[in-house]
Amino acid sequence: MSALSLYDTATRQVSTFKPLVPGKASIYLCGATVQAAPHIGHIRSGVNFDILRRWLIASGYYVTFIRHVTDIDDKILHKAQHEQIPWWAVAMKYERAFDAAYRALNVLPPTYEPRATGHITQMIELMARLIDKGAAYAPGNGDIYLEVRKLARYLTLSGQKLDDLQSAGDAEDNFKRDPRDFALWKGAKPGEPSWPTPWGDGRPGWHLECSAMAKAYLGDEFDIHGGGLDLIFPHHENEIAQSEADGQKFAKRWMHNAWVTASGEKMSKSLGNSLLVTEILKRVRAIELRWYLGSAHYRSMLEFSFEALEESATAFRRIESFLLRAAESGEVEGVIDPKLKAALDDDLAVPAALALVSEWLRAGNTALASGDLASVTEMSARVRGALGILGCDPFDPNFAGAGGKKLDGAIDGLIALLLEQRAAARERRDFAAADAIRDRIAALGITIEDTPAGPRWSVN
Ligand SMILES: [Zn+2]
Repeated sequence: MSALSLYDTATRQVSTFKPLVPGKASIYLCGATVQAAPHIGHIRSGVNFDILRRWLIASGYYVTFIRHVTDIDDKILHKAQHEQIPWWAVAMKYERAFDAAYRALNVLPPTYEPRATGHITQMIELMARLIDKGAAYAPGNGDIYLEVRKLARYLTLSGQKLDDLQSAGDAEDNFKRDPRDFALWKGAKPGEPSWPTPWGDGRPGWHLECSAMAKAYLGDEFDIHGGGLDLIFPHHENEIAQSEADGQKFAKRWMHNAWVTASGEKMSKSLGNSLLVTEILKRVRAIELRWYLGSAHYRSMLEFSFEALEESATAFRRIESFLLRAAESGEVEGVIDPKLKAALDDDLAVPAALALVSEWLRAGNTALASGDLASVTEMSARVRGALGILGCDPFDPNFAGAGGKKLDGAIDGLIALLLEQRAAARERRDFAAADAIRDRIAALGITIEDTPAGPRWSVN
């Protein structure tokens, strides 16, 4: 039996996952800053860590999964000013947009989903402890900074040297003891929201939020901290700095997902709105987008193109069509094949898992053609087991509203109706009409196959 091994950004090595508490896994994932609608680059992180979570659950762990929401931030304030609505209305609008995208893509809801503005008390308590310990200071301008030169260790995750570092660039340097000190808290500015503290009114910095919320929900030490690759510096380095200066052990393991790239670059706003989740879902079904986003290894860049998306969706429909046909002979429960377990235990080797699915699909289709029902059942159980971990089981009720069985039933009826009309046309020797019906069906990309059980359709 294999044991679960995962990559750790901090050690740059794959190592055996040993939870703090046997049988339990605690995870903190940095969530969205809710200042715009999500594009697929934002959602990839949610999908990648959802696969990790599903695999931990399937491996018998009780998983506590925290994904926070940053609902106060410079960008949110700018947008509020631009749209002439309150900052909290901006945050709520986009939090709902993220929520809808996660739900559409079958990302399990977090165990708890704390908002930054709901945890100001915990942030003030953390700052008070850091000031007491001499790790942070309030220079009198309303800001509070962490003094990075005093840290026992800093920049271990990104492997940088403090002397090579530029100014943190998050405030005027003249109040800082060192330009590389970073802001825990930002003093109030006229017209901006603020909260009272013993050191003056202000609002939290992004880094402080995560340290305070991770401690509130997971305690002084937890198993896995996750996020996108771009969060390693400064965000995660600064989370470590704050929490360690507070005497916490913090995350035992760091995991980072790679980006969705377009023309080799991190997805940027220059691509416009075409890669918003809502836009992509006009082209493919949610289950197909999930399949596409989850298909690359989480540490590999996913180079986006509409061609690749279409190809991936077509490949998924072949798997789905096999499972639907197999299900006609009876419901099949998914099983975790030992080969699948070995692949996923190896740092979630999804590409290896997909190779297994292809192999089982081929064997399953061969068995369908030869009427070998035992093999059909066996292969479909293996495929369903794999798809369940990837969050792409076509029988998952979360996808039912988006098509699935219900829609297939309706299409079955429509195709049967067309075929009856075609048969009637042939009977009255109206071959032009019969051929026109055949051609129109073919033009829709639907293939009709005659089987002993009657005509069967599939989408090319
Ligand atoms: Zn964070």
